[in-house]
Amino acid sequence: MAIVRLALPVAAHQLFDYWLPSGLAVALGSAVIAKIGRRRLAGVVAEIIASSEVAPERLLPIDEVVAGIPPLPDDVCALARFVAAYYQEPIGLCFAQALPPFVVARRAAVVSVPGATGLVKHALNADQRTAVSAVLPQPLEFAPSLVQGVTGSGKTEVYLAAAARLIAAGRQALLLVPEINLTPQLVERIVAALPGVRTAVLHSRLAAGERRRQWLAAATGDAQLIVGTRLAVFAPLPRLGLIVVDEEQDASFKQQEGVRYHARDVAIYRARLRDVPIVLGSATPSLESYAQATRGRYRWLKLPQRAVLQAALPEVRLVPNRASGSVEGIGSALQHAIAARLARNEQVLLFINRRGYAPSLLCAACGWKAMCPRCDARLVVHRDAGRLRCHHCSHAGNIPTACPECGNQDLLPLGFGTQRLERAVAELYPAARIVRVDRDSTRRKDSFAAMRNAIAAGEVDIMIGTQMLAKGHDFPRLTLVGVLGADNALYSGEFRATERLFTLLVQVSGRAGRGALAGEVLVQTDFADHPVYAALVAHDYDRFAAALLAERKSLGLPPFAHLALLSAEAKRPAALDTFLSTAATRGRAIAAAHGSECEVFSPVPAALPRRANLVRAQVLAQSPNRRALQAFLPLWRDELERIEERSVRWSLDVDPIGFA
Ligand code: ADP
Ligand code: ZN
Ligand code: ZN
Repeated sequence: MAIVRLALPVAAHQLFDYWLPSGLAVALGSAVIAKIGRRRLAGVVAEIIASSEVAPERLLPIDEVVAGIPPLPDDVCALARFVAAYYQEPIGLCFAQALPPFVVARRAAVVSVPGATGLVKHALNADQRTAVSAVLPQPLEFAPSLVQGVTGSGKTEVYLAAAARLIAAGRQALLLVPEINLTPQLVERIVAALPGVRTAVLHSRLAAGERRRQWLAAATGDAQLIVGTRLAVFAPLPRLGLIVVDEEQDASFKQQEGVRYHARDVAIYRARLRDVPIVLGSATPSLESYAQATRGRYRWLKLPQRAVLQAALPEVRLVPNRASGSVEGIGSALQHAIAARLARNEQVLLFINRRGYAPSLLCAACGWKAMCPRCDARLVVHRDAGRLRCHHCSHAGNIPTACPECGNQDLLPLGFGTQRLERAVAELYPAARIVRVDRDSTRRKDSFAAMRNAIAAGEVDIMIGTQMLAKGHDFPRLTLVGVLGADNALYSGEFRATERLFTLLVQVSGRAGRGALAGEVLVQTDFADHPVYAALVAHDYDRFAAALLAERKSLGLPPFAHLALLSAEAKRPAALDTFLSTAATRGRAIAAAHGSECEVFSPVPAALPRRANLVRAQVLAQSPNRRALQAFLPLWRDELERIEERSVRWSLDVDPIGFA
């Protein structure tokens, strides 16, 4: 009797044995349905063995083989095992990342627009040609490259040209993009640039049936180019020849719940497994990738100029935040610059990375602040809806008319958000056509697309937005970008905060002057001497990266140290304390017993110490040596699972991107 060992989507680190009823045929990687307890779950055949250690009478049969899904290929199974081992995640949940949603089988369809028209074809410039040849080794083999190109330097064209070469040679190319960048525009642009190439698109917002069809197109080898968000890194690709990770520094490649993996790092592992090249692209590479390039581990290609003839990088100016003549936080320099653009019929983008009207409500008489009753967080004033909202939980309430402490009727909204900026701009420029783009204004399906179309059609003069507007868009008449409230990020305790701020500022600045019209960026700041702004003005990422790397080295932070973060939350503070101090003590004991280079720190409260009535804290494990950390983690996780504090919810995050 054949025994199959299944990876089932439950929170366990083991595989489960079942017997295979005669009449059912499976292969390694087959998707099957089996009962575990009372549940019927879809799992994957991870091993086929002759006998089990489980007594035969206790073995259950598998129920059925899922029809219409080809078995996961070896490399995808290996990838799932790698993710389970590296990130300390339950193996069945890792296999589940690789399966498509199940629905009634239908034939695979792929997006294909043969001979699309309206396509502007340009010859690659010298930098682009060098990059394309350099990223594709002959013969094809594992070779990681970092393409560091300023915004508008034509990185996308490099990816597509490299992909086209491999597709012509009969291979598949996988292009991973950040969540927010996977717009219909990008897909249209790709389809137009590669006419006749069969393209599949994979992301989590596709309806289940559609996602499954796209998955099948990839898995059968029918699709030649696969464009997707992080989950696409697990797609079966029988003829894989190239992986590209665009905006490789983007935080959306890290899955922050469920299986906590980093799609860029998994992609590198996969490229090695398949012995194919991988290209990481960015204007502002992550310090991890940057360090690899400086050490010569990655081929390092630079595109220092904008690709469009006459297009130059925008001039960046720093202007004071507080100046006479300021109106609602908009300084006079910015006011003049906006007026000049309106007079010339050009477009303006005002960037403020805070939605709502004001981030807090204050009583000037007694100092009371509106706080969330369930979180250690201030409530945000949403004047459009007339509500106070918590941005960390679902709490919402009416805006009080008087201070609940002292009865004072003069409550002050403190600070600025997109709604407040929108009102101020509407008063300053009554004739201007204004659109606000943030999560609140784009809640309805397709509203973002409609706004984008209106902007592109020139029906908008001033756009006000959060980071939703920072990336990817190409509006040729946009010549002024104003940045407000950027200094807020400088106060953050997060070790990647300045790096993120810089990336965001480069991206949003990159929206200006992409066409023939010159662009200008005005950043309002009280800290004009800060290195992050100096680097922005000089368009000098290399100097900034060198400074950040030196700082990381002295502080023992990534990429010079490897981290794992144990985060826990509980209703009762005592339970949380017991759990985390036990976790730290046992972690130290393991490290000591194994002579490990791992250090386990004492518990500290999370950045948000209470959220939705749960107290939250963390323990950090750190090692200068990745191997040492990897050897330590399974032992530690075993111990954590033995701690009897059932009311505590915890998770282990390997290579965390932040300490939130
Ligand atoms: P990036 O991805 O680096 O931001 P894109 O690939 O989006 O840059 O290119 C920016 C703009 O430059 C696009 O409008 C693109 O059509 C144009 N472009 C790219 N390569 C060339 C080239 N070789 N000649 C002329 N225009 C180009
Ligand atoms: Zn008061
Ligand atoms: Zn809250």
